[in-house]
Amino acid sequence: MRNRLCKIVATIGPASSSPSMLRLIHDAGVDIFRLNMSHGGHDKLRTVVQSIRDIEKTLATPLAIFADLQGPKIRTGAFAAGSINLKYGGEYRLTLSNDAADEDTIPIPHKELLDVLEPGDILKLDDGKLQITVKEKTERHLIARADTPGILSDRKGINVPGRRLPISAMTDKDREDLAFALDLNVEYIALSFVQQPDDVREAAELIKGRAGIISKIEKPSAVERLDEIIELSDAIMVARGDLGVECAPEDVPLIQRRIIRDCRTAGKPVIVATHMLESMVESIAPTRAEASDVSTAVYQGADAVMLSAETAVGRHPPTAVAIMDRIIAATEKDDESGSYKSAEREAETYTTADAITLSARRIAEVLDCSLAVAYTKTGSTARRLSRDRPHCRVIAATPDEKVARQLALYWGVQPVVTEDISHFHEMVEKADTLAKTHGGKDGDRIIIIAGYPFGKRGRTNTLKISRIGAIE
Ligand code: PGA
Ligand code: MN
Repeated sequence: MRNRLCKIVATIGPASSSPSMLRLIHDAGVDIFRLNMSHGGHDKLRTVVQSIRDIEKTLATPLAIFADLQGPKIRTGAFAAGSINLKYGGEYRLTLSNDAADEDTIPIPHKELLDVLEPGDILKLDDGKLQITVKEKTERHLIARADTPGILSDRKGINVPGRRLPISAMTDKDREDLAFALDLNVEYIALSFVQQPDDVREAAELIKGRAGIISKIEKPSAVERLDEIIELSDAIMVARGDLGVECAPEDVPLIQRRIIRDCRTAGKPVIVATHMLESMVESIAPTRAEASDVSTAVYQGADAVMLSAETAVGRHPPTAVAIMDRIIAATEKDDESGSYKSAEREAETYTTADAITLSARRIAEVLDCSLAVAYTKTGSTARRLSRDRPHCRVIAATPDEKVARQLALYWGVQPVVTEDISHFHEMVEKADTLAKTHGGKDGDRIIIIAGYPFGKRGRTNTLKISRIGAIE
């Protein structure tokens, strides 16, 4: 049982992929495992998935896995010497390949990019560490001037802030990786560098409901059409690594706030990602600014916070997770925490299920309930409850393993795979047992939500208040 409601995502890499390390970071607090398809061969990823499924089985706790597709990430090509030394103010030719193999050429093997570049365009290289500006474009070549000195080596990322590139959101590699990930039966697919709603639609056509879609917001063009992208996605990631290169640093906090707010309103889970405890890649403790960053995301109402390099290649993966866990738990103790702010909004019409989940939130508050047990086939009741942010943990009891695993991403939801109930007494009795095994104490009030007749989908219409250990 976790001691908090906001979830933790950890990126798996060389520092965390062994079965024992996966178990350690799980025990320290990881609820969702992220596989980065930019790194790691398929065989390695298959083994990691198997190890996570083994942990899940041993502990009988559903865990979510998501495969993060690389997307149309633009990179430099290969230099003859492996790298060049950019000189401040120096002029460089941008070409498709490095046939000349000289010190003054930067190979960029992406015709789509070279075609659209115009004088004045700024290219950020190597996660924004270096920068060049396009000065001249002729029939035959592009010339750019270096705005920063430094070493530029093979296959470093290129960001062109503000320019929407005419490239598909899915590369050939992404299609192969997607087929592979779906074959592994992962719960979610994350899409990188989404630029427009059509990018999500295109992926959805390929995924065909076999996994949920997490759209990563890391391009200004995606921020411009945020609402449509949220609508089409199952979850959203504030991907601050690339977003921070594409946008001015002062804009990133505001964009983060806006994305969280809009996701909350739409009732879609939102993950805040990248650099959260970055110094812990090396260091055993985070900086105070990093602790504050995690806490801020929780205050703002994020469903989950994410570790990247800290767990993928860092020196202290379990410690990074444990510290993140503590920061979240401490922030949630503050009742003022915005994480409890309901996404409740005026609707034109309310369904019975809406009324039940909204009431559950109020009941949890006035009766100080410690748990809500929701019987749910499709997961929708648990998702609705999570969105209304009750001051109590939600146990989602579902017969569907995939639904249970997907629910691991949702704020406050503890999924449990269990058989359907068939009568009222069983509903109360099972909820009592589930509550006891999930931290409930004798005498605690709990809320039970179900649909009657039992076993049918989409029929939430029943709410019972019960006391643990005192079944009436
Ligand atoms: P990445 O995405 O780690 O795949 O680049 C997250 C980010 O850009 O923040
Ligand atoms: Mn990114």
